[in-house]
Amino acid sequence: MKPKDLALPIYSSDNGGTTDRWGKSYCPYCGVGCGLIVGLKGNTVVKVNGDPDHPANFGEICAKAVFLSRTVATSDRLLYPQVRPRRDSPLVRVSWKQALARAATAFREIISRHGPDAVAFYGSGQLTTEEYYIFNKLAKGFLGTNNFDTNSRLCMASAVAGYRSSLGSDGPPPSYADIDLAECFLLIGTNTAECHPIIFRRIERRKRSDPNKVTVIVVDPRRTETADLADLHLPIRPGTDIALINAMLHVIVKEGLADRKFIDGHTHGWEALAAIVDPYTPQYAHEICGISPRLIEQAARSFAASSGSLILWSMGINQSTVGVRKNNALINLALATGQIGRPGAGPFSLTGQPNAMGGREVGGLSHLLPGYRSVTNPQDRAEVAALWGVPAAHLSPKPGYPAIEIFEALADGKVKAVWILCTNPIVSMPEPDMVEKALRQAELVVVQDAYHPTDTTQYADILLPAAQWSEKEGVMTNSERRITYMPKLVDPPGEALPDWEIGARFARELGLSEAFPYRSAAEVFEEFARCTKGRFNDYSGASYARLKEGPLQWPCPGPAHPGTERLYTDGKFQTEDGRARFIPVDHQEPHEKPDDDYPITLTTGRLKNQWHTMTKTGKVESLLKSGREPFVEIHPQDAAKIGVQDGDFVEVTSRRGKAIAQARVTEEIVRGTCFMPFHWGRAAGYYKAANNLTVRARDPVSRQPELKACAVRLTRIEEIVPDPTLPVCDASAAGPRP
Ligand code: SF4
Repeated sequence: MKPKDLALPIYSSDNGGTTDRWGKSYCPYCGVGCGLIVGLKGNTVVKVNGDPDHPANFGEICAKAVFLSRTVATSDRLLYPQVRPRRDSPLVRVSWKQALARAATAFREIISRHGPDAVAFYGSGQLTTEEYYIFNKLAKGFLGTNNFDTNSRLCMASAVAGYRSSLGSDGPPPSYADIDLAECFLLIGTNTAECHPIIFRRIERRKRSDPNKVTVIVVDPRRTETADLADLHLPIRPGTDIALINAMLHVIVKEGLADRKFIDGHTHGWEALAAIVDPYTPQYAHEICGISPRLIEQAARSFAASSGSLILWSMGINQSTVGVRKNNALINLALATGQIGRPGAGPFSLTGQPNAMGGREVGGLSHLLPGYRSVTNPQDRAEVAALWGVPAAHLSPKPGYPAIEIFEALADGKVKAVWILCTNPIVSMPEPDMVEKALRQAELVVVQDAYHPTDTTQYADILLPAAQWSEKEGVMTNSERRITYMPKLVDPPGEALPDWEIGARFARELGLSEAFPYRSAAEVFEEFARCTKGRFNDYSGASYARLKEGPLQWPCPGPAHPGTERLYTDGKFQTEDGRARFIPVDHQEPHEKPDDDYPITLTTGRLKNQWHTMTKTGKVESLLKSGREPFVEIHPQDAAKIGVQDGDFVEVTSRRGKAIAQARVTEEIVRGTCFMPFHWGRAAGYYKAANNLTVRARDPVSRQPELKACAVRLTRIEEIVPDPTLPVCDASAAGPRP
């Protein structure tokens, strides 16, 4: 229900001309999942407004969505399938039949020579659920490999593993409606104001509606716009979150603030948890994380005492070599205080991408199967095999390569062919040198994208034009488990096709017509919904017909079921005995600590007006006005040591590479830490890419890389001198492969 105190402005943009009709849609950017109303004229998107009836945003949208119309009909849209006759040839236009026949021949030949694990698919949290489903089914059910993973691995794989190990299943327990009911917010590892702006506005309104009752705690090494709202800003040293959370738990134990009734009735492992947090006095934690003991005590008391405490986190927690443990620690905090399954409370991991949640549900990671099933579980494999009409033995019990490992395996020659969908890994992955090596080494690179060239499409042997937002039908699920239907509003340009249709046509080219007969996204959705029947993430009550009436939150186990706002309201968790698990975790330093050679810790993140690798938002002049070039934030004392002043150009060097950015000297970042946005890639100029610096060390369970902490050195430079030996993105579609 729309909160009464929300009197929201409606933002809009005009791409020129009046509209002749309107249609509903869903924002293709972040995991807030805002509903949109799109103004159309003929086959053109001319305006984008917020949908006042959508419960994720009630009409509000941020600037990225306002200017969506400028990203659709651009001059670099990929219009036709193209292939390289030879590796060193330019791309030439071919028919869909020719392109997919060539891909099918190459896949068959590589699989027959090297086995099914010699091919891999790498997708994106920007795919629709139907698109995820088709490629997942093809790889895991019919090609015999679990090598289907996505860039969501870089975003929230640690949250998936954290929820599963602590609560028995993935799935964020709260909803956005809990924001309107919470009395205490713990925002940790999330710059919500920049990365999830519409959620932030809702938190802001909640705070302003009752400033004395509502407490906002923000944990961040930077004093961000999010931190400006905080009653308590805890300026943490990057990578030390567990020390802080354990110290909060220490205070809760010592001061008798734990919810013993909830602990005794609904959990296991309290004694072990109490033992592990015992040494984490606020003073001890201060020595690790840099936050004053007094602030730690205040945060613990506010969190435990409130009637509803909501923990929100995102990449700052997940992108870590101990990302799963950090998730466990936060869930420990919620369980210890009974702040779960009740109004205004719960551990709430925010997804980065619009359909990262749908990808989890569909099994879009290399260890998962549809309906929150696992490839390692024989019963799960048997159930999915039956649904797909194949013998259970067709499904491999071996988890496939997770994101970075796909590219490492390509670079090592273990994987020979990769099919990249809807993502630009040369910019979004750490250590792009390795990704480039992988794509050079591969026998076959297939890329399907809406645009060309990008940093990645230039490596394609086969390049396939994909329809994008507004040009295709499908569903996406946002951070609060809410499924929204998106209709096709305009025709895609040239011969571009929806990603699901490309996958289905490819499967048919491989001789799999019976298993991939789909003629519409609705048919794909119906089959996926059947896969979830009786599962925790039950979609079986959802249908296109119902979703066209409005979005629904899963579980939604029947056509008359209204959907589920909040999970675990009965205190029963998805473990065998229904009890949640306290998982004791210790602090562990980030993989790469600062030293004499690299004395500063670099942390990276997003900017409010840019999205991922800028292939869309980087084309919108109005968005670029707020920041055209990358910058590096640095504390004045660190800047003074190296003779850097505000506005100077600085070369940032790590053990893996370098990047150049303009210095922003500010006290709003903790000493010893610097910050760079990650959006700029090599196509924008080799030296702008923050991921030239980051490290591919990853969590041993979630395999999510540590993009939030690596050691760097900063040096003032007089001018930027381009290095002609470094790779550049070839702006010519006819250019040879790099
Ligand atoms: S907050 Fe996220 S989903 Fe909402 S309009 Fe902005 S980018 Fe889109």
